Amino acid sequence: MALTGLDIYKLLPKTNCGECGVPTCLAFAMKLAQKQTSLDQCPHVTEQAKEALAGAAAPPIKLVTIGVGEKKIELGNETVLFRHDETFYHPTALAITLDASLPAEEQARRIERINGLSFERVGQTIRANLIAVRSAGDAAAFAAAAKVAGEKSELPLVLVTENPDEMKAALEGVAGRKPLLCGATPENVDAMAALAKEKACPLVIRADGLDALAQLSEKATAAGAADVILDSGARQVAQVLAHQTAIRRAALKKFRAFGFPTIVFPSGGDPMTEAVEAAGYIAKYAGVVVLSGAEPWELLPLLTTRQNIFTDPQKPIQLEAGVYQVGTPDEESPVMVTTNFSLTYFTVEGDVDASKVPAWIVVVDTEGTSVLTAWAAEKFTADSIAQAMKKFEIESKVKHRKVIIPGHVAVLSGKLEEASGWNVLVGPRESSGIPTYLRTSWQRQAA
Ligand code: SF4
Repeated sequence: MALTGLDIYKLLPKTNCGECGVPTCLAFAMKLAQKQTSLDQCPHVTEQAKEALAGAAAPPIKLVTIGVGEKKIELGNETVLFRHDETFYHPTALAITLDASLPAEEQARRIERINGLSFERVGQTIRANLIAVRSAGDAAAFAAAAKVAGEKSELPLVLVTENPDEMKAALEGVAGRKPLLCGATPENVDAMAALAKEKACPLVIRADGLDALAQLSEKATAAGAADVILDSGARQVAQVLAHQTAIRRAALKKFRAFGFPTIVFPSGGDPMTEAVEAAGYIAKYAGVVVLSGAEPWELLPLLTTRQNIFTDPQKPIQLEAGVYQVGTPDEESPVMVTTNFSLTYFTVEGDVDASKVPAWIVVVDTEGTSVLTAWAAEKFTADSIAQAMKKFEIESKVKHRKVIIPGHVAVLSGKLEEASGWNVLVGPRESSGIPTYLRTSWQRQAA
């Protein structure tokens, strides 16, 4: 349970010296309870209080990092069971397998394909995150595959073997990349935890069932594995989902043995089954999902699902207001207007691009809301559009004075003509109508 402001206040010096930036210890305690400040802002807090507060303030699910550098992955630090209660902070990492038994050329091709699993959607890059190198029981081949993956990809690695000797051999080449060791079982936990501790790598622990997993978690952490990832051993969908939910619930109640991210392995079979299972696991708390499919069409739906689930529902994704260009527009090109909700803008941009008619798009700041929502909330009005056109100096970009507004807000035409002095053209109601509109109606207007 999180401490309340009053709980925290009881542990503070109560001298009201103000050195923490707020006038009283009580005010500081309240800010701390709301996570708006950190304990180190108070220079007078005692060691004893620090310990008590740190224990209570520790996140219910530990933040675990896999890899180094720009592409490192952070998992955990989640605080809620349901996204709408707050948000989900660290997106599920998608790992793609690389079998060490593959011939060298095939390994190289697969690594290249995994590296290329990166896409742009609503202005964000979404991509596969990890390469899971799987042993086929040959230590030398496993170490060689891990080394090649480390050399040919910047993505963090997962080393999949339960043989500590194989793990040790593979780590010789890639320990500096801080791979995820996958992993420890009740049989090998001492050796694997020792490797994880020595190389400062995160460690997957796998036991059959939740009771055994809790025991193994305690054992692994006692043996020095600081960063653990939990695998309940379940492989059937219903059981995986039940375990994922039970682990998240227990973690949020501060059951420390389960206070770590999880890893799941879809049972595989055909690509469609794998994708459907994986989508369910992304929605239900998986920290890492290990996939065998490496084709763009297998990954893109999962990446889209993940992006949707891990977008903060209280903060719509939005882009900066301004004038954007599609293609290389000139002074005769059409001027269109839309809102700064990313999904709206990038849909419009894609449809303008598909029309092959270069255009200017004036993006109005509607606080990340879509056309009709913004119009209903009076954030996309004749005045706000006219102001944006003026502010972003669209008149300096074109010779004509025609602006195209979305068909859904045709009602704004008259007022916008008055407010802007421009001739207002009503575009299609749906963005999908833009290509036809620009190629026919606009060309006729412009002629
Ligand atoms: Fe109280 Fe510490 Fe802030 Fe001083 S610095 S007011 S002692 S919380």
